[in-house]
Amino acid sequence: MTKRALFPGSFDPITIGHLDIIKRALPLFDEIIIAIGVNAEKKYMFPLEDRKHFIEDAFEEYDAVTVKTYKGLTADFCKAENAQYILRGVRNTADFTYEQTIAQANAEVMDVESVFLVASPAVSHVSSSIVRDIARNGGDYSGLVPFEVK
Ligand code: ADP
Repeated sequence: MTKRALFPGSFDPITIGHLDIIKRALPLFDEIIIAIGVNAEKKYMFPLEDRKHFIEDAFEEYDAVTVKTYKGLTADFCKAENAQYILRGVRNTADFTYEQTIAQANAEVMDVESVFLVASPAVSHVSSSIVRDIARNGGDYSGLVPFEVK
């Protein structure tokens, strides 16, 4: 059976932290779907189409990686995509506490296993919100994002 993982997130924008998790997860799965969640109530800095293109360009050479967008429950999207795993990155205890609840809820709603990778020390300080803060204030965030976002 194809081992397929969903990596859900806002990716507003994708950072070197996300890249690190995805690349380290590649040997674990046959396919990884990077799933951009669309929440009508949430305000994003980067338009959805740009967020999708940044990721597609960054993973152009990776046949095992695809990029999709979805609305609604992540667990439902896993089912629709036949993904048995949800991949998430954990930077610190705050991430862990948040992820634990979501993972337990997802396991209850649907038979989906969450797999966590601990952030690499070199990028554990990186977040999309820091990139947005720097961008908003006209700073240079090029060291925190893949080439395609620059
Ligand atoms: P969300 O809004 O769902 O948290 P994000 O796009 O911010 O979406 O993050 C998606 C996933 O990537 C989450 O699991 C998050 O913890 C993880 N992540 C984000 N930045 C890093 C990083 N620097 N190192 C490891 N994991 C990260």
